[in-house]
Amino acid sequence: MTTSTELPADLQDALLAAARAPRLLVASDYDGTMSPIVSDPAAAFPNPIAVAALRDLGLLPDTSAALISGRPRAVLAQLSGLDGDVELVGSHGSEFAEGFVQEIDADRASLLDRVVADLYRAAESEPGATVEVKPAGATLHVRNVTDEERGDVLLDIVRMGSAQWPGVHPTEGKRVIELSVIDTDKGYAVDVLRERVGADIAIFFGDDVTDEKAFRRLGSDDVGVKVGDGETAANYRVASVDQVAESLALLLDERRAAIGSAQPR
Ligand SMILES: [Mg+2]
Repeated sequence: MTTSTELPADLQDALLAAARAPRLLVASDYDGTMSPIVSDPAAAFPNPIAVAALRDLGLLPDTSAALISGRPRAVLAQLSGLDGDVELVGSHGSEFAEGFVQEIDADRASLLDRVVADLYRAAESEPGATVEVKPAGATLHVRNVTDEERGDVLLDIVRMGSAQWPGVHPTEGKRVIELSVIDTDKGYAVDVLRERVGADIAIFFGDDVTDEKAFRRLGSDDVGVKVGDGETAANYRVASVDQVAESLALLLDERRAAIGSAQPR
């Protein structure tokens, strides 16, 4: 466990200001943001404080809460336990409660079959490499390949191979590459959610390369929060999943106070 440190002062100020927005959207990535990164993806349990705060934020008037993840929506629902309480958007922003943003027709389904077969062929050659099949894509994971260089080679093979096929849309992450048959990203999901609720301010938390597309879609009044090190388009940064939880808890308190004081007497 990391020792807890104070939230950055500029982030605290931004969250306090956002809490007073007439309509607010609070969205977050899941893995590495709401839950620590673990080697077994099925054991990525969320920070309980973060989950409780996000759920309670979503229950407040004029406040919308969402998770936007690369995971299939059903898996995200099961891991987070938040289905029905907050908006869940899976498959990198392409899978909403109503379904996929583009239909998975026969052409896309057969392309997906070929992508899956190609990734399995690649993974077969390297112990520790795994393939995760999703409704609209497939992911090659090399996190558990012990020789890091061998993992890199595998990612390169895919980058120069099936990632280039027409109709295939690659997304890179930490020690993973995902190939989707639908063209979308988390930035698109933020736009859709923002419009749906007419949010004046949007807040987004994320830790990975794929989250940068969401950060880049935010305006100067919005609050983008990058978790951990690395280059980012986000305007704020926290050190850990614990600090995401702390931020959400602070936001909840401030939002409650702002809404309470705005009620007519
Ligand atoms: Mg993540």
